[in-house]
Amino acid sequence: MTRIAIGGFLHESHSFAPLPTGWGDFIKPGGLDALRPTSCPAAGAIMVAEEAGVQIAPLAWGFANPAGPVTAEAFERIAALLVAALSDALEDGPLDGVYLDLHGAMVAIGFDDAEGEVLRRVRAVVGPDVPIAASLDPHANKTALMVLHADVLVPFRTYPHIDMKPAGAQAARLLLRMIRDGRRPAKAFRELDFWTPLPGQCTMVAPMAEVMAERARLAEAPGVWELGFCFGFPYADFPGCGMAIASFADTPDQAAGAADALAAFIAAKETEFALGVLPAAEGVARAMAASGKGPVILADTQDNPGGGGHGDTTGLLAELVRQGAQGAVLAPMNDAEAASACHAAGEGATITLDLGGKSDGVPLRVSARVERLSDGRFTLTGPMGAGNPANLGPCALVRVAPGVRVIIVTRKMQAHDQALFRHIGVEPAEQRIVAVKSSVHFRADFQPIASEVIVVTAPGPVVADPAVLPFTNLRPGLRLRPGANR
Ligand SMILES: [Zn+2]
Repeated sequence: MTRIAIGGFLHESHSFAPLPTGWGDFIKPGGLDALRPTSCPAAGAIMVAEEAGVQIAPLAWGFANPAGPVTAEAFERIAALLVAALSDALEDGPLDGVYLDLHGAMVAIGFDDAEGEVLRRVRAVVGPDVPIAASLDPHANKTALMVLHADVLVPFRTYPHIDMKPAGAQAARLLLRMIRDGRRPAKAFRELDFWTPLPGQCTMVAPMAEVMAERARLAEAPGVWELGFCFGFPYADFPGCGMAIASFADTPDQAAGAADALAAFIAAKETEFALGVLPAAEGVARAMAASGKGPVILADTQDNPGGGGHGDTTGLLAELVRQGAQGAVLAPMNDAEAASACHAAGEGATITLDLGGKSDGVPLRVSARVERLSDGRFTLTGPMGAGNPANLGPCALVRVAPGVRVIIVTRKMQAHDQALFRHIGVEPAEQRIVAVKSSVHFRADFQPIASEVIVVTAPGPVVADPAVLPFTNLRPGLRLRPGANR
């Protein structure tokens, strides 16, 4: 009977984010049964393996929200759990393959290319003859080391990510194909020489929508197993950062042909990747003047918790209050202290809060009326995470100005799902302005109800223009803005 190991270790690390990512930030899902009903890539791999009647040796699986680099302690402990479980599985009998659920943009203290190091260790344990397949987030800074040690890498095709589980399933299918056929595909790896900020990476709009359509077309070429394009995470600071393509095919020529054709298509569109954003003050004014059907969505991209922001900056909130916005609600505001104060005061109470700003020292002093409290436990309903549990700790809906409300949370999440609002009694479609801490993921669930989407900039670490960050370790020649320095 075919037997494969399944494990995962996922983090997206922002080299300049204010807070590191430690052991306690990683959630432990409790085995295959906890992963199976989720939208995670591992759930797709489990599904494919079980449908094929393959025996699964479960390894460790851990995920933490994007933030600063993973501490050496957390990296070593989780990597050790993964490798120890693999050793135990090998003691029990031979393994035919390994599937890993990886993000691809993890930076650990000591290992800038953390997934490359994880794959190196796994390869060292299983040896050269056991195939290894991994799924990746397309924000992966995909490196030559990852491509060297894995036999196939399958990134999601979408941003917002609505195909995480299908990507895991496809990686598992290719793993089973390698096992069944007894051969591994040839590889080609290409790096692009510019990168693009997050708003330009959205696959729902041009140019990325066209790039992904071309990718799908090229992936149909004879002999091609997989043509993977990773957009990169432009907030990490090491030589492997950037957009990259890895293709896998029957022959080296087929792999190179597909990768080169996609690289040329992307390069020709370079200047189109520079998408516009508005300063928060202008965005709020435009939202207040709008008269379309449905809410205006204001995306506070530079404090995106999914990009390493803490989710607690107050620049956009201050603008909503200052300009007297009506029918506005902002979520989330990640402030455990304020949430706790609201729960102590109770629903109906009015308290003074120095709200948010714990990460950057810029809170907003408000008189907050506590409208509703929650325990922060709910189930996601949007296209990215339907069925996944959320546990944000004590939450509070507060009114901080006549027309402005805020959802305060104790643990951050990116505002990519309407359930974040509904769970505490706010129907997003009925608001005039919905302000979300997100760069792109919100579009999957919020764009369908929006009259307009405006990406705004207020102070925060997930800068809309990464070129302003103090990078020191990028590879020479990488253009930090599409079309820059040509
Ligand atoms: Zn991502």
